[in-house]
Amino acid sequence: MKSFFTHLECTYCGKIHSSSEPQRLCLDCGKVLYPRYDLESARKIFTKEVLPYRQSNMWRYFEMMPILDEKNVVTLGEGFTPIFDMPSLGEKLGSSNLFLKDEGINPTASFKARGLSAAVSKAKELGLKRLTMPSAGNAAGAMSSYAARAGIDAYVFMPKDAPEANQVEVYFTGGDLNLIDGLISDAGIISRQKAGEMDLFDVSTLQEPYRVEG
Ligand SMILES: [Zn+2]
Repeated sequence: MKSFFTHLECTYCGKIHSSSEPQRLCLDCGKVLYPRYDLESARKIFTKEVLPYRQSNMWRYFEMMPILDEKNVVTLGEGFTPIFDMPSLGEKLGSSNLFLKDEGINPTASFKARGLSAAVSKAKELGLKRLTMPSAGNAAGAMSSYAARAGIDAYVFMPKDAPEANQVEVYFTGGDLNLIDGLISDAGIISRQKAGEMDLFDVSTLQEPYRVEG
């Protein structure tokens, strides 16, 4: 399969950034970068008719993902979660078309698996070896799990009063868990500081361009 990913574009000022090297935020204005695709070319090849023959995870949309080489995809089977109609709750809320998408059955039990599958895949493609993030919850376990799958080191900075389940998930998936005596904002400061000191790549929410693609 061929990805139609072409470049990164600043969501605020429109500046184009190269995607062949690690990028975090816009080099001009510091705002979020989004991947962009050659949609005109993609529409000729990537049609809904091809989808039934694809694997049942989010990588079935490979043409619209920012990974160029399929061998760099780091997957644990995320995405393709079921959607249920919710007639009783819908009636109570005054909606005749209420649906619930159950993201809890993702590999690391939350929607964070999608974004971290995308971000860790791109990190692998770019040759990054060590990732970091502050987290008080599900993202930490997701990063740690996907990094383990990719053979990449994961450093997590987590408030020490975060749920034990989230701490254990990082520990058992091989992440370097650092418990912080403070809030998530304090964990963020330390994660950024360690990123500079230890050459770690920060995959915090909206601090790099690829998680959003999951
Ligand atoms: Zn910008």
